[in-house]
Amino acid sequence: MFQDFLAAFQGFAQTFARSGKRVYLVGGAVRNRLLGYPAGDFDFTTNATPHEVMKLFPRVLPTGIQHGTVTVLYQNQPLEVTTFRVDGKYSNSRHPDQVLYTGSLEEDLLRRDFTINALALDLDSGELIDVTGGRFDLEQKVLRAIGEAETRFQEDALRMLRLFRFASQLGFTIEAGTLAAVSLCRDDLGKLSRERIRDEVVKTLLAPFPARAWSAWQKENLLPWIFPSLQQAEFSSMVLGQVEVLPPHLRLVFLRSVFLFDQDRLRVPFQDWDEELRALCFSNQDRAAQVKLLTLIAEATHEPSTDVAVKKALFHWGSRDLPAHLDQVWQALACVFPHKAEQWQAWGQALNRIVACDVPLFLKDLAISGNELIGLGVAPGPTIGKVLSQLLTAVWENPALNENHTLRQLCQAL
Ligand code: ATP
Ligand code: MG
Repeated sequence: MFQDFLAAFQGFAQTFARSGKRVYLVGGAVRNRLLGYPAGDFDFTTNATPHEVMKLFPRVLPTGIQHGTVTVLYQNQPLEVTTFRVDGKYSNSRHPDQVLYTGSLEEDLLRRDFTINALALDLDSGELIDVTGGRFDLEQKVLRAIGEAETRFQEDALRMLRLFRFASQLGFTIEAGTLAAVSLCRDDLGKLSRERIRDEVVKTLLAPFPARAWSAWQKENLLPWIFPSLQQAEFSSMVLGQVEVLPPHLRLVFLRSVFLFDQDRLRVPFQDWDEELRALCFSNQDRAAQVKLLTLIAEATHEPSTDVAVKKALFHWGSRDLPAHLDQVWQALACVFPHKAEQWQAWGQALNRIVACDVPLFLKDLAISGNELIGLGVAPGPTIGKVLSQLLTAVWENPALNENHTLRQLCQAL
């Protein structure tokens, strides 16, 4: 089961052994291997201190040295190495006030979040060390906090978000006591930084089983800390089922569209959503894509799918890959709101037809350039943009006009 890990990390482990230290592979790589999934990253735990690890290898970065973690660059691979640790008191629901090193692997495993994440692989013997029953929980597909769940979530509120992230990534169920503790501790989510919340939320939404996580966020009333405006939405299992079929980057925009359409508010502008995403530290690029997609969905909901309307939509999106993005959202929306299915289907068909034929859509497709317009006497500056956009609109209406001499004539007639 672990032969290739033992072979790949043999030299790495021997370096520790030569100085009388021990090192184990822990966390996601062990868990995922037992489930038959690829490893995300490689986390190790050792009784060597970070400074000792830094002396053992030539290339080591002190990535989280205050928590006992360094990153060893081993055969060009980053390996996260953390010293066996017990956490001191937590007074802010985020970080232990003090990190104490321990000589005990067992203590280190017991301070981890969930049983399935506390399996350690002895890199010498190939033995799997399981002090929390993680192997059994993996087989049962259960997420269970180690120790008393309420205390563990009070120590670090991020564990609650990790819980739903793993449910979404692995499709596991959550053990009743662990879930019950979330409702007791959820207010502590307010103490987490928005960036840390965003990171977990994004991972959750991109994973294969986001419906599980979203329905738990709804039931456990976590949405006020995640997407406050969607806390009233109460998406049905049918809507959430559609989310899982959609490509990950379209899931949120779909949910937002369902919510707005339901309230007859699927109309521009989408400033409030942009603000909400900004509050959760989404990048400018992500926010802009969300707003653009929502704008196009709104247009397709209320406007007829004329060629010009569809070309304009493609122009606003900025590339021909729009159908790959939107088609599937419209299909999902049509399942939820069948009375609008025809309208969205018409948009989908028109979009695919227009993209498939090579008609001019963008300024770069025009058979005339800005410089040529200046040569024709158009004043440099914003007027150029205005004239080009008028020409483009004319060409959208009639692609046959896209000939240099015709556009020159048109320009003079403007
Ligand atoms: P991934 O596949 O996403 O890397 P992972 O389980 O390896 O999942 P990491 O964030 O890489 O997650 O953390 C490595 C290990 O450290 C976890 O498996 C867990 O044992 C422990 N851990 C990480 N974060 C916490 C936390 N907030 N509280 C307790 N233990 C944690
Ligand atoms: Mg990991």
